[in-house]
Amino acid sequence: MNNNIYLPQLAVIKDIKEETGDIKTFTLAFKDRKFKKSFSFRPGQFMMVSVFQAGEVPISISSSPAQPGILQLSIKKAGSLTGKIHGHKVGDEIGVRGPYGRSFPVERLIGKNLLFVAGGIGLAPLRSLINYVLDKRTEFGRVTILHGARTPSDIPFKHELSRWPKERDAKVLVTVDRPDSRWRGSVGPVTTLWNKADVSGQDTLAIICGPPVMISFVVMDLLKMGFSEDDIISTLERHMKCGVGKCGHCSIGHQLTCVDGPVFTYREMKKLPTDL
Ligand SMILES: Cc1cc2nc3c(=O)[nH]c(=O)nc-3n(C[C@H](O)[C@H](O)[C@H](O)COP(=O)(O)OP(=O)(O)OC[C@H]3O[C@@H](n4cnc5c(N)ncnc54)[C@H](O)[C@@H]3O)c2cc1C
Repeated sequence: MNNNIYLPQLAVIKDIKEETGDIKTFTLAFKDRKFKKSFSFRPGQFMMVSVFQAGEVPISISSSPAQPGILQLSIKKAGSLTGKIHGHKVGDEIGVRGPYGRSFPVERLIGKNLLFVAGGIGLAPLRSLINYVLDKRTEFGRVTILHGARTPSDIPFKHELSRWPKERDAKVLVTVDRPDSRWRGSVGPVTTLWNKADVSGQDTLAIICGPPVMISFVVMDLLKMGFSEDDIISTLERHMKCGVGKCGHCSIGHQLTCVDGPVFTYREMKKLPTDL
């Protein structure tokens, strides 16, 4: 048995879905049957994805753990490595190790109304949790999903964004920064959706993922709406190298984003020596 914690597992790309011009969802299957059978994860955890002879990037799992045997990663082409991953085809092999990181606190969400707020590719980790919640619908309260994208063609997971509101007690609201001539929906930042969202800080937990500036504005509004600091849950993104708390690359003060995060409550985030 090899005990090297940095050794990736080989995975075959079974399917590639083009979500937008720069986001693709890759469906992977581990080659090692024993590993495939034992693999499990929680919503909010991430994998280190390797491109041979190039390097590794952290990517959140976007599929739901309630669907065992399925591992999906939704990747935005941001630079060199993600660009190389986008060049892969169905049948190609990549390396993946994980799952890593602190997940969303699923047990704390049971029985609660849930507000999901996502910006851009931030919907990827939330998709894992949203599908998990909807797969176990009776365990959770009302579900409200707010998503903001730059333009209508930058909206990922369009199929699910139209399926989710058909579930019991579920609402989806989408807004774009720059509409095109066919767009009939909301225009403006995700915070313009508060009126239509109709949520209350007294009985709801908020889960947020997106660019830091979006998170800051959303958190400010939620606090004004009466959400407690423990009921605002978000993710912090930092450049990572090892993913397992060894190298210190992703440290913020005394916390390591890869093992103490990437999921934090706002009460925890506030104590960190950093802006959101
Ligand atoms: C825990 C975690 C989960 C993530 N989940 C996803 C996901 O589900 N889908 C997805 O598309 N991306 C995700 N990311 C971001 C992804 O890891 C980066 O886009 C990727 O590392 C960029 O690598 P690259 O070689 O393509 O870009 P590079 O060529 O290295 O960089 C391109 C540009 O992006 C900037 N950049 C690179 N990494 C980061 C980072 N971590 N934070 C801020 N800026 C960065 C660089 O400074 C540079 O300006 C996640 C990051 C973390 C830490």
